[in-house]
Amino acid sequence: MSNREIRVRFAPSPTGPLHIGGVRTALYNYLFAKKNNGKFILRIEDTDQTRFVAGAEDYIIDAFNWCGIQFDEGVTKGGEYGPYKQSERKALYRKYAEQLVASGHAYYAFDTSEELTNLRNAFEAEKKTFTYNATERVHLKNSLVLSEAEVQKLLTANVPFVVRFKMPENRVVRMVDLIRGEVTVHANVLDDKILFKSDGMPTYHLANIVDDHLMKISHVIRGEEWLPSLPLHVLLYEAFEWEAPQFAHLPLLLKPDGKGKLSKRDGDRLGFPVFPLQWTDPKTGETSRGYREDGYFPEAFINMLALLGWNPGDDREIFNLDEMAEAFSIERVGKSGSRFDPEKAKWFNHQYMLKMSNEELAKQFLPFIEKEEVMADIDYVERVVGLVKERAHFVHELWSQSDFFFKAPDTYDPKAVKKRWKQVSYDQMTEIKALLAKVDDFTSENTEVVVKQWIEEKEYGMGVVLNAFRLLIVGALKGPHLFDIIAMIGQEETLRRLETGLHELGKKE
Ligand code: GLU
Repeated sequence: MSNREIRVRFAPSPTGPLHIGGVRTALYNYLFAKKNNGKFILRIEDTDQTRFVAGAEDYIIDAFNWCGIQFDEGVTKGGEYGPYKQSERKALYRKYAEQLVASGHAYYAFDTSEELTNLRNAFEAEKKTFTYNATERVHLKNSLVLSEAEVQKLLTANVPFVVRFKMPENRVVRMVDLIRGEVTVHANVLDDKILFKSDGMPTYHLANIVDDHLMKISHVIRGEEWLPSLPLHVLLYEAFEWEAPQFAHLPLLLKPDGKGKLSKRDGDRLGFPVFPLQWTDPKTGETSRGYREDGYFPEAFINMLALLGWNPGDDREIFNLDEMAEAFSIERVGKSGSRFDPEKAKWFNHQYMLKMSNEELAKQFLPFIEKEEVMADIDYVERVVGLVKERAHFVHELWSQSDFFFKAPDTYDPKAVKKRWKQVSYDQMTEIKALLAKVDDFTSENTEVVVKQWIEEKEYGMGVVLNAFRLLIVGALKGPHLFDIIAMIGQEETLRRLETGLHELGKKE
């Protein structure tokens, strides 16, 4: 293998939203390029006009912008090997198809779709499957059978044709995959795939190989679903006499129970996104949720994806993109599928939340506070997030963990009232109110000492007092350390909440 410059690509077909498996493939390409001082290219493979979906290309680009995965060349960036969109390269593929016909590796086929359907049906009637292969091609309507003059006549008359690859007979195709090692396939089981279609467009196989060659791709890192295409691709490189790239086929992302490929339906059923961004199907209007809209930090999302199939060789779990690139190698990508764990995804987001400065977190939390129409200055919000971030996985969960820092309770959780508002509570809370009204130093530390000493002196139950106290301050039995809460809301507000609570809950009979 020559010392090629490292150049890798992500080559999505814009047929819908990008599945997180696709994002992971792109990520591994990106990490591989970064690790090896190579280039990472985004190429849009849109030769199949029947599968075109409006908005899908923009979606792909937006998704990578959100994730922070950057390309060195591609549709948005340009570069010296462009254009990077196959529909804009349309004119160049035909000559490569013809080159293969001329060298005897491919042929023109004039069979109409009606003729082929009839053949398929006839085979099916005999419980057989029709395959356009070495056995069948010798009695079909193609340039292997027709005379040169006949072929020329059909071409000149613009009779629709396709170009098919002439699969060699009795060949064992030997392939090397960087993840799986050596793979061999007998060419006799393969069919004569169409390379160039009657609509003047190349198929995926031809365009993909031609572009990888012209764009000097050194490594093809892609999903396992493309492994069955590898023998054809290897044979195409051989037929063109081009140096083939090295291949790595990434194992699948599996459902949470490990049984089969992770699908959109699993996400809908189990309540997690399988797409980076929300997507609305332009035809059906159906909306699928996205990691961004669900409140994931892009860094956490990427970190979680990276470890689904690759392991750094030690027990580190939290990486930024640069650290991942530094540690990345294809050798450490596993051979078997990786089970997706929605709880672990949340855990990653939580870790990033804990890592984030209170200042940054407060900034992100501010819009949620504004929506609730309460007033708070940013310093206060910063201190609040510092106290509650341990309890949330997402920024949007911070509100339910901290609403009582911003406003007095307007209801009291009925379950908590039933359990924790005891007969003694009214009198005890009246006492605590008088006690706290006299405290000069209203810090968390001091009020805690004062209140606990008083409880001990009176021989009250610690739990009985503190639960009732929390209920009046918070409205429920949630939240961080109670004395931190009262220090934050201040003496005046604490006394006011005690007063209101006493009035609302009254004496239990
Ligand atoms: N266009 C193919 C896809 O949508 C690319 C496969 C490859 O990377 O060769 O996944």
